[in-house]
Amino acid sequence: MSNTEATLFTRIINREIPADIRYEDDLCIVINDIAPQAPVHMLVIPKQPIPRLVDASKADRSVLGHLMWVAAEVARDAGVDEAFRLIVNNGEGAGQTVFHLHLHVLAGLKAAPMFVEADLGEP
Ligand code: 5GP
Repeated sequence: MSNTEATLFTRIINREIPADIRYEDDLCIVINDIAPQAPVHMLVIPKQPIPRLVDASKADRSVLGHLMWVAAEVARDAGVDEAFRLIVNNGEGAGQTVFHLHLHVLAGLKAAPMFVEADLGEP
C-alpha cells in the first residue's frame, strides 16, 4: 500500500466503509471490532493515521494520551470499567494486521495470561 492510500480505518472514519461507531471526537473514533474476541471488543483509533505505535513522534504524545483517556471513557459507557484489557499490537510479528494505530478494548471474559508459552519443539 502506498503512503497516500487511505487505510481501512481512515475509510471508516470518512464513512466510506460502515462500522458500529461508539464514540467520536475531533481526534479519534471508537468502533466495535468486526470479529470480536470478547463480548466487548472496541477499537480506539486516532484520526491521524499513525501506522504503528513505534511510528508515533514526540508531537503525537498528546493524541496517544487522549486515546487512553477515551478507552477508559468508552469502557465506562459499556459498563466494563471494573475489568477490561487494553492491547496494542505493534508490528506484524505481534499480530498487527491493520497498519493504522488502534487500541483494542476487551472485556467480558475472564482475562487469560498475556502470553501462551511457545512450543519450542523440545522433547
Ligand atoms: P490488529 O490485528 O491490527 O491489532 O487489529 C485489527 C482489528 O481490526 C482486528 O481485530 C479486526 O477484527 C479488526 N477489523 C478488520 N477489519 C475491520 C473492519 O472492516 N471493520 C471493523 N469494525 N473491524 C475490523
